[in-house]
Amino acid sequence: MAGLIPQPFIDDIVARADIVEIINARVPLKRAGREYRACCPFHQEKTPSFWVSPTKQFYHCFGCGAHGTVLGFLMNYDRLPFVEAVEELAQRLGVEVPREQSNTAAPAAISDDLYTLMGKVATFYQEQLLATERAREYAKKRGLTREIATQFGIGYAPDSWNEVLKRFGASDESRARLMETGLIIARDSGEGHYDRFRDRLMFPIRDARGRVIAFGGRVLDAGEPKYLNSPETPLFHKGRELYGLYEVRQNRAPLMRLMIVEGYMDVVRLHQSGVSYAVATLGTATTPEHLKRAFRLVREIVFCFDGDKAGRAAAWRALNNALPEATAGREMRFLFLPDGEDPDSLVGKEGKEAFEARLASALPFSEYLVMHLAGAIDISHADGKARFVAEARPLLERMPEGPYRELLLDRLAEAIGVSAERFLKIVGPMATPESGGPNPAPAPPRPARTARSTGRGSLVRQAVQALLHFPAVGTRIPAAEVEALAELDEPGVEILVQLLKGVRQQPATSTAQLLERWRDHPAAERLGRLAAEPSIVPDESAALDELKNALQKLAQGSSAAELDALIAKESGEGLTPAERDRLLELLRRGR
Ligand SMILES: [Zn+2]
Repeated sequence: MAGLIPQPFIDDIVARADIVEIINARVPLKRAGREYRACCPFHQEKTPSFWVSPTKQFYHCFGCGAHGTVLGFLMNYDRLPFVEAVEELAQRLGVEVPREQSNTAAPAAISDDLYTLMGKVATFYQEQLLATERAREYAKKRGLTREIATQFGIGYAPDSWNEVLKRFGASDESRARLMETGLIIARDSGEGHYDRFRDRLMFPIRDARGRVIAFGGRVLDAGEPKYLNSPETPLFHKGRELYGLYEVRQNRAPLMRLMIVEGYMDVVRLHQSGVSYAVATLGTATTPEHLKRAFRLVREIVFCFDGDKAGRAAAWRALNNALPEATAGREMRFLFLPDGEDPDSLVGKEGKEAFEARLASALPFSEYLVMHLAGAIDISHADGKARFVAEARPLLERMPEGPYRELLLDRLAEAIGVSAERFLKIVGPMATPESGGPNPAPAPPRPARTARSTGRGSLVRQAVQALLHFPAVGTRIPAAEVEALAELDEPGVEILVQLLKGVRQQPATSTAQLLERWRDHPAAERLGRLAAEPSIVPDESAALDELKNALQKLAQGSSAAELDALIAKESGEGLTPAERDRLLELLRRGR
């Protein structure tokens, strides 16, 4: 999604924002020399190890390692997705966020009117809940407190065919908006409309900024369908939204994980019981997009399903959709509740502690996958084993290469009693999914080479670090030197070259600005960690010396290697005239 906001705009607001001011408004900072410090908001501590640098526009905690730019801070502390963090920052600076034209799924501009209308209808439903005894009694019977109903904005759609229509659809124009948001439905006859939600407990679905974008409604008594959601509208895409995510983010407690459950009643009851990290998908299986969203906030996701047949089917679908998101550093587990129970009923019965104790028995991703396959196939015979492999193969192919897939391969091999090597032979060559989405700015790095044992990898690292801490010095390196650097075959050198070219093209004033330009690059995390390490150079002129020194040594090392190769070739098969010229040049330079 980052591609929709032009990079120069992000560059500009990061340059204009003051990270000290933004953080200080949330976590009071104390000046300490050239920097500011506080007790870290991301881990528990008594002595401050959280530092904010106004020159780098970067924060860093020596205790837990948290670090990032002002946008990173808003994402982690306010728990905003990237786009919303940009919007928040822009709003503070009083500027409008521009959008790039993109032919792939660029969201049409949504009129504020639609959000306003949804907000008004939500308020109306809330008033109706207070005013309707039958609805109030029902909410009470379901164990909902007044506080939780207020927190989630729960309301009631009156038992009427046209209450919303009457109140909010007086003109053609307003009826068109009601249609657009899915609140009314056109009659089959083609004449007139009626309310979509009637006699239901209403759960507003909010976006990351807390605006109501859709509703879920549950019947009070028997009646079909039991759950009814808003249709897809310009505001609401069910494959993307997680119910309860806004409310989860309102919580200040450290967020370690998210639990994905099946229904909004489950979410509300879990929050009410203190399990304040529960969210739900809305009438759809978990999609990769849901997971991308969730993994921006946490590293661990627990899928929670009812123990019945429908729950197990839903879990298997969720696992299938999660395969492309199974990458290093992410944890996914599957929790199955006893047959006949759902989170709503169970947490009501046993309370938070007992419910959370069940998390210990949640199955890791690979365990669940193996268990499911082994449970469906008799693997005591050779043909069963072959089928097991055949079923596992397409699943493996949808996973990105990495430790997750390795681990799973091991577990699958173990399940049918062969070695991992043997298992790989049976599976045969596998396709690998394309990595991630479009990656507009810098090109992905070439495959990693192993660093030469000379320790020269650290020269590249040294140069990158000097550049990260003082991006301005990059403009002082001549273009020809950068070009020569690009010819070197050193691990990480392409990143260094791209960094240098980037700041030559467009100077960066702070570490933060540079990091934001690299946000979507596969190396972004590594760069962030490097930036978080204390700077060995105190100022810009020292950084320039450091950078020049590293570049010089890299170039020297490279010509030394080239020289060795040419000399060896001369005494062997002989040199071409061009090679001879090159050898002479290098020898002359060496003197
Ligand atoms: Zn910390």
